[in-house]
Amino acid sequence: MLTLAIIKPDAVRAGLAGKILAHLEAAGFAVRAARLVKLSPAQAEAFYEVHRARPFYRSLVTFMTSGPALALALQRADAVAQLRKVIGATDPADAEPGTVRKLYAESKEQNAIHASDSAETAAREVAFFFPEAELRELGGSR
Ligand code: ATP
Ligand code: MG
Repeated sequence: MLTLAIIKPDAVRAGLAGKILAHLEAAGFAVRAARLVKLSPAQAEAFYEVHRARPFYRSLVTFMTSGPALALALQRADAVAQLRKVIGATDPADAEPGTVRKLYAESKEQNAIHASDSAETAAREVAFFFPEAELRELGGSR
């Protein structure tokens, strides 16, 4: 099964994309697609639409458009739940030791990485960045 990760602009800016990708691979995820993206405000707004009414929404959109981010379609068994475990809690202060956010994140907003939170959002979010039919076929077969 596939899930979507985004190595966020803070981590790319800090030169941590390679370390974080190595961490994900060591945790058993295979990279099925990768794209370095500079999100437009409209794209970031659409991607985080679910948070539109939250007080941090405008700031989140500004952050997510502040520089390049690395979108990844990742495959492994139970990918969605396993990736959420590997990245840790939203706020690095609350994240378990050894998680990506505990190791690499700066703050609750600038928290290094995104991961899809359900099978439904994973399908939608993978298609958001990687609409290619081939990828859907490959990802859907396991
Ligand atoms: P993501 O969706 O990016 O994987 P998440 O699922 O752990 O993160 P969400 O509640 O979906 O957390 O929030 C989306 C993102 O919005 C967070 O990752 C963080 O960048 C930002 N965010 C969430 N809560 C806050 C907050 N209280 N203050 C500032 N930024 C926040
Ligand atoms: Mg979320």
